Amino acid sequence: MVLNPFEVAKKQIDIVAEEMELDPNVTKYLKRVERSLIVSIPIVMDDGTLEIFEGYRVHHSTVRGPGKGGIRFSPEVTLDEVKALAIWMTWKCSLLNLPLGGAKGGVCVDPRKLSFRELERLTRRYASEIINIIGPDIDIPAPDVNTNAQIMAWIMDTYSMNKGRSVPGVVTGKPIEIGGSVGREPATGMGLYYVLEAMCEKLGLDLKTQKIIIQGFGNVGGTIAELLYKEGCKILAVSDISGGLYYSDGLEIDKLLDWTQKGNYLNDYKDNRYKKITNYDLLTTECDVLIPAALENVIIQKNANDIKCKIVLEGANGPVTPEADKMLFEKGIHVIPDILANGGGVCVSYFEYVQDIRAYFWELDRINKELKKIMLRAFEEVYEISKERNINLRTAAYIIAVSRIAKAIELRGIFP
Ligand code: NAD
Repeated sequence: MVLNPFEVAKKQIDIVAEEMELDPNVTKYLKRVERSLIVSIPIVMDDGTLEIFEGYRVHHSTVRGPGKGGIRFSPEVTLDEVKALAIWMTWKCSLLNLPLGGAKGGVCVDPRKLSFRELERLTRRYASEIINIIGPDIDIPAPDVNTNAQIMAWIMDTYSMNKGRSVPGVVTGKPIEIGGSVGREPATGMGLYYVLEAMCEKLGLDLKTQKIIIQGFGNVGGTIAELLYKEGCKILAVSDISGGLYYSDGLEIDKLLDWTQKGNYLNDYKDNRYKKITNYDLLTTECDVLIPAALENVIIQKNANDIKCKIVLEGANGPVTPEADKMLFEKGIHVIPDILANGGGVCVSYFEYVQDIRAYFWELDRINKELKKIMLRAFEEVYEISKERNINLRTAAYIIAVSRIAKAIELRGIFP
């Protein structure tokens, strides 16, 4: 059975609503999205044929500020997936106490099958189609799965050309040369690192000696792999969409990054010491810290009992389903939830947005210091509530996030 992420996101709202005895009207309000736009993206391919792609942009809640959330290019993307991701962005921004709401976008396409120019045309047409619902004070997109700084540059340019002036603040995760921020690219991985370090401290574990397994070797998975490798941790296994590699003495992450950054798949990497492993087996291999950093719904009821680690650090959005979450909690596994763990990206996106609006740019030191401050503040708040109420970290994080949204709804009222 394929799990619908939107149903998962709504179920998570029910769980927290019950725990915090939330007003049923607010619960109902939080389970719907403010607006969702479906667009058709016709592209003349390099060979002259016409292809039509479908794209989405969803605003879940702008009650605390303009929408914020990435754009995903994937053949599997659906409107319901984008809705769920927009909901998680609302909680994430609220938990980190950023003055932003939750949004997300996606295009149903496999970008690897497009040429560079086809990708540019697709991005620009998608940006034109959603132009009326994005903007620095409406909704600010950013990169997500299979999108990057170049794609953000095209969106920024398309928006600016239509407005007749340069508007760098319309997207974050842009190249530094056109208003991007230093430290944005590794920010999600940095945030994961700060939160994991803090969790190890709480549990009396030495981070350096932890054995790590990571699913996903892109921006998020690759960065956290590199940071932990440099720290001295043994990275037992990593994977990408092609499959994974395992080595009990620890993989040489620098070499693997060099390989994948040249556009190669992990499955094609040659080293006799390394054993090939499927994405499914990777998740259930014994380690100390398991970091799902690819897609949602990978730790589910079916495999939750086989997970053998102390900490699950959610690099991806929504990798653990509510049923699996409960099972992991009962097994004594600490799950550091996505809305806390991977919040570093949106945090530095927020810094980028502030810098663009002010046209005043910060040094890397300041970015990392402020990022660490926000991540650790959120971590401490979540940890304290989880201990106080004897609940898992996710429900604790949701209580903080949802309380702030509920308060904003109460103060603003429901229009008209
Ligand atoms: P990315 O495109 O840079 O990397 C994705 C990685 O996952 C790649 O290695 C890819 O091969 C792998 N992958 C894709 N499909 C897979 C599958 N079916 N099985 C196993 N591996 C698969 O994307 P990213 O930016 O690193 O995002 C990864 C996750 O982190 C997503 O859930 C995203 O929403 C989340 N996230 C990203 C950011 C960010 O700043 N980039 C911030 C917060 C959360």
